[in-house]
Amino acid sequence: MNQLTLQWVEAGQVKTYTVAEQQSSQPSRSTRIGRDPVRCNLVLTHPTVSGLHVEIFYDPQRGGFYLRNLRDSNPPVVDRQKLTEGDVMLRQGTSIYLGQVELQVAAIATRVANTVVVPPPVATIAPAPLAEQPTASQAGSAYGLRCPRCHQISLYERLSLGCPWCGTSLAAAVSVLMVPGEK
Ligand SMILES: [Zn+2]
Repeated sequence: MNQLTLQWVEAGQVKTYTVAEQQSSQPSRSTRIGRDPVRCNLVLTHPTVSGLHVEIFYDPQRGGFYLRNLRDSNPPVVDRQKLTEGDVMLRQGTSIYLGQVELQVAAIATRVANTVVVPPPVATIAPAPLAEQPTASQAGSAYGLRCPRCHQISLYERLSLGCPWCGTSLAAAVSVLMVPGEK
């Protein structure tokens, strides 16, 4: 079976998640990544991650794993390139930023006929800091939560408190950029 392993750090702990190609004649089901546990297989709780942010799927015709953006307003950054539309092939060592959370493709195993091909480890693991990544304080003011009921946008500090307008829980709220006077 073809599979891809993601690795990231959450609360100081290294976490991994394996995306496996579905073995069936049905169209491949994707792995959905975001903050909303209802819609996502892989849940990242960081407030800069959108409720449903990206999906990863195996494309048998192109013979690889691909990542597709599902949030126009909060595009992921894949190997320092913003992915605003379409999809991009993932390779071992690929860096994926969802908001401020970085995921790395730790391993990809693809089966060609009966042979499992495991690429050798990538020598350079540590990427240089991204100049365009916002700092924590900048991002705190740049991102907001859109209420799923009344669509008002509030600050991340409201995440655990609920919508200040209608009181709805913001756990499933969509992350949006709130950049006053955007250049
Ligand atoms: Zn509301």
